[in-house]
Amino acid sequence: MITGSCLCGSVSYKISGKVGEIVHCHCKTCRKAHGSAFSSVAAVTESEFHLEGRKHLNYFESSKGKKRYFCSICGTQVYAKKDEAPHPKKPVGTQ
Ligand SMILES: [Zn+2]
Repeated sequence: MITGSCLCGSVSYKISGKVGEIVHCHCKTCRKAHGSAFSSVAAVTESEFHLEGRKHLNYFESSKGKKRYFCSICGTQVYAKKDEAPHPKKPVGTQ
């Protein structure tokens, strides 16, 4: 079981299955969203990704169909999902 949360702890998650390979994405929107040279993310199966504190989640659509979900209190990005992608991706730094 993998667990994680945002910086303030208002949004947390548990992953009951396996996490996909870690990808270090350095596209422009990931760099800006994370405020760093790249973001490190891993895909998770939606049915195995159990979120707590959803009421604190908000999202920003950084490109058409790609929503970056973040904690509305502390601003930590908790996961991102493209409309056509089968799996959400979560930043590995939130573990
Ligand atoms: Zn937070």
